[in-house]
Amino acid sequence: MSFRRKIVAGNWKMNNSLAEALTLVDGVIAHLDPNTITEVIICPSYAVLAPIHAHLQGMPKIRLGAQNCSEFNSGAYTGEVSAQMITSVGCQYVIVGHSERRTYCNESSEQLTQKMKRALENKLHPIFCIGENLEERNGAKHFDIVKGQLKNVLSTFSLHDLKELLIAYEPVWAIGTGVTATSAQAQEMHAFIRKTISELFSVDFANTLPILYGGSCNALNAKELFACKDVDGGLIGGASLKAEDFCKIISSF
Ligand code: PEP
Repeated sequence: MSFRRKIVAGNWKMNNSLAEALTLVDGVIAHLDPNTITEVIICPSYAVLAPIHAHLQGMPKIRLGAQNCSEFNSGAYTGEVSAQMITSVGCQYVIVGHSERRTYCNESSEQLTQKMKRALENKLHPIFCIGENLEERNGAKHFDIVKGQLKNVLSTFSLHDLKELLIAYEPVWAIGTGVTATSAQAQEMHAFIRKTISELFSVDFANTLPILYGGSCNALNAKELFACKDVDGGLIGGASLKAEDFCKIISSF
């Protein structure tokens, strides 16, 4: 287990009506260990951020994040949501570069760099997602891919800009598949990410940067993954939709 901040974030993706979302939040509140040392973040859909923020008043342990933000500040971008809007409804975090958006929305490194800029200008803490697909892993290209994803976006920024950064290593082959990276695979890649960050910025920054694992992490395998030296928590998809499981993951350090 690492000495860094411990963080578990739930990515609810495109799930839950308002009523369902409020029920899930109540479930998390009910099952959450009041003495937990873990920082908890939930990332519901845009549609329910404001009412969930209102619902969470008096629950400082659970922070709110969005799943995406626009690369633009404002204007004629129908259907888009800006970082400023996200901040205005109580979010402190935003996921940038989730593999589903990279794949389905063709989000490029240039766009992700702009999204990261908008997030940081609006005092949001970005959860920057990186990870290789199965073909890339099978072709032993996973380290190069991840290094490229890091460099292509982060090298535009200064160390000062990135002090609120979180990274989520999410191998695409593990997301929503039920196939988790082994703890050895996760540790190996997290250590590599930390080394890359130390080369891009500084050893001190790399040593304090929280790096979360994501990809079929659940109440049964979280303990083993979180016990890895360079794994500082998780970005949880499917298992974050079940309050009891999510809270078990939160207590897995
Ligand atoms: C995710 O989408 O970020 C994720 C990790 O999903 P799952 O936990 O369902 O694999």
